[in-house]
Amino acid sequence: MSAGTRRGGVKRGHVSSDDRASSGSGGGGSGAERDRVMAAAIIVWFEASHRPLPWRTDMTAGDGQRGGPMRNAYHALVAEAMLQQTQVSRVVEYLARFIERFPTVQALAAAQEAEVLAMWAGLGYYRRARLLHAAAKAIVEDHGGRVPETVEALRALPGVGAYTAGSIASIVFYQRAALVDGNVQRVVQRLEGDASTGKEATARAWARAEALVRAADESASGASGARSARFARLNEGLMELGALVCTPPPSTPACLHCPLGPSHADVCVAQQRGLVGQIPPPKAAAAVKALHAVTVVLLRAGSGGEGPSILLEQRPASGLWAGLWQAPTIEQAAKFSQRGQAIAADLCAMRGGDRATLRHITSVTHVLTHRRVQTEVYAAHAVACVRKTRRSSGGSGGSGGGGGSANVSDDSPRWVTLAEIEARAVGLSSAARKAIDAAMAAPRVNGAKGTDES
Ligand code: SF4
Repeated sequence: MSAGTRRGGVKRGHVSSDDRASSGSGGGGSGAERDRVMAAAIIVWFEASHRPLPWRTDMTAGDGQRGGPMRNAYHALVAEAMLQQTQVSRVVEYLARFIERFPTVQALAAAQEAEVLAMWAGLGYYRRARLLHAAAKAIVEDHGGRVPETVEALRALPGVGAYTAGSIASIVFYQRAALVDGNVQRVVQRLEGDASTGKEATARAWARAEALVRAADESASGASGARSARFARLNEGLMELGALVCTPPPSTPACLHCPLGPSHADVCVAQQRGLVGQIPPPKAAAAVKALHAVTVVLLRAGSGGEGPSILLEQRPASGLWAGLWQAPTIEQAAKFSQRGQAIAADLCAMRGGDRATLRHITSVTHVLTHRRVQTEVYAAHAVACVRKTRRSSGGSGGSGGGGGSANVSDDSPRWVTLAEIEARAVGLSSAARKAIDAAMAAPRVNGAKGTDES
């Protein structure tokens, strides 16, 4: 949708550029002139105020295309995959570890999916990891190991949508490309006084982001149509402004410190008209489903030079936490009708645990975007070698199963040393790690570490 199309549908609280130009508000002049003022102000502000995040300082040597340093496109692709739905502070921690394990796109393409999931474990939204893995393979097979530079070629990669393609193209390769993420959409909606929602709001945000990229190009001396660092600065500036200044509810935007606010360019309609608190409109709270679980952490003492280990089972290849590992668990949507102790006792016995040592450790709550998982954590010592267990063996067929499901893949279970868990050799969800950490922190369970008794 073009900027001209956008002007055709004015909603409550929305004021078009033409409206402002005719009324003399918001920096004065034409819509194009206002866009140039905004683009220039964002670029200047970003250059002075941005955070030195790892993916912004991760430069490789000149690429021969622009004759200067450029960001590592593969690292930027990994960072973008991680940043979807995840806070920057968490990504900083995970990105360094992931890049250390898979330093090149070739290394990631050659890895087993289980290794990739293990390094992703705890970040959530594991589909992102699988798609990133598939994208690495496509880059190696179809692009000679070089991340493609155009929006079109980037969008053809698995898991790469309009935002990520625009981000890599403009920020890494200085292409003339726009991007819209949640931060950008909020900023441009407030700048326009646009309180629309849904697809219409997204389309308008893209039109505004594209107009600002054009304005950045037009205002760059001698750079029209060519690659320019201004596109990168503008796009990162919009995102940074949304993250640091034009912040989402419930926080209050720092309009007085904004490069587009009354103390500087004075081009923001929402600020001028007192609409900041109304944009974006409040969203209806997402429905949160409950999931109830009983987990038994079975500990086997070390022997033969190998340290102590615990029994893990792999979840199925689809569904919640697909392909990740966990201690033996029974789960279901409804609360268990029986006492957790009885369910845990049956699960313990079926997995070769000593029921006499079984004890309740704690209750752990893990909240996801659409789920709230309540887990009763038990621990016991192992008494027998565990044979391969079919998925159905731990489900509702057990007398204490209470109708829940063990939700286990056909490759489970497997003993994994505590050292391997510490080294992230297997992929555990955050909820599974919480349960294991709680069990291992309990004195009587932890007291078995390093002994040959069980
Ligand atoms: S002036 Fe305020 S509402 Fe407008 S863009 Fe800046 S921080 Fe956001």
